[in-house]
Amino acid sequence: MDLNKKYNLGFFPTPLHPLKNLSKKYSDYNLFIKRDDQTGLASGGNKTRKLEYLIQKILDDNYDTVITAGAQQSNHCRQTAAACAIAKLECHLLLGGKEPEEYNGNLLLSHILGANIHFTGENRKGEDIERVKSSLEKKGEKVFVIPYGGSNFTGALGYINAVKELKVQLIEQNLKIDYIFFASSSGETQAGLMMGLDIFDMDIELVPINIDKAETASFLEAVVLNFIHEGKDLLPIKKEYHLKDIKLIRDYDKAGYGVITRAEKMAIKELATNEGIFLDPVYTGRAFWGMMRFLKLKKIKPNSNVLFWHTGGLPAICNYGSELIINT
Ligand SMILES: *Cc1c(COP(=O)(O)O)cnc(C)c1O
Repeated sequence: MDLNKKYNLGFFPTPLHPLKNLSKKYSDYNLFIKRDDQTGLASGGNKTRKLEYLIQKILDDNYDTVITAGAQQSNHCRQTAAACAIAKLECHLLLGGKEPEEYNGNLLLSHILGANIHFTGENRKGEDIERVKSSLEKKGEKVFVIPYGGSNFTGALGYINAVKELKVQLIEQNLKIDYIFFASSSGETQAGLMMGLDIFDMDIELVPINIDKAETASFLEAVVLNFIHEGKDLLPIKKEYHLKDIKLIRDYDKAGYGVITRAEKMAIKELATNEGIFLDPVYTGRAFWGMMRFLKLKKIKPNSNVLFWHTGGLPAICNYGSELIINT
């Protein structure tokens, strides 16, 4: 499988730099950040990497229309709309809930990007995809479906390639990273990073912070494992993986998806006031909070080099508005 065969949508490599002030504050650790909030494609985020492989496949197979589904503030839907605009594909987004009176955040951006937006009410998880697909097919369109939330194996290739990119940067900067913290939600990023570390022989411990409250005890772990098993047939993956090898930190997901607590607000404030960098409230705010707790409680080796992999999501800040104000 050729990792170089992808449709160019972003700016790579993304910056990798130290967090100088926070490294002083958490003085047992050296902190770094990988800036996938700066991937480009309609304000950046981790979906840029995934879409490069998906759009390539969609164009290779001569599709002309893309359907996907997500929440109204879905970063995946916003970035898919942007990728379709660039690749001249018709884009249909199925978003749960009713049409709001005011458009903001990702919803506003998806609209500006020219996506056809369908509000699907109670059907919040893409249940209406087949219906919309067949009505478009009746009009003669060739429709490709990216599943709800964007998760599939082709997308995971983006983060295998990202590990290759990281490896080059670490050599250039003469740096060794011991741990990578990041937000895990659909399993694509996590599966890609796990496969990438294996393929490119890198000894780094992943600390994936779970975002969505789990429906069953090991659901996301099973999804990640499935992606890796799919990868085994196509890529030079060396190790054998079992469910117990898939790590997932579930300590910070109790509030549920998209529900903002003091934890996420404190994390957003911590990175903004010390380093001038924004986190998003849904994913990276929660994951960064998890990392702050790990550092504070010294749950990882002292004096180690710790990387936060920023996966983007900035537009959602504009949706939460004054909910993000911290009353001290
Ligand atoms: C989608 C998303 C994630 C989660 O990535 P998965 O590959 O779905 O696990 C994390 N952060 C942001 C900002 C996202 O939009």
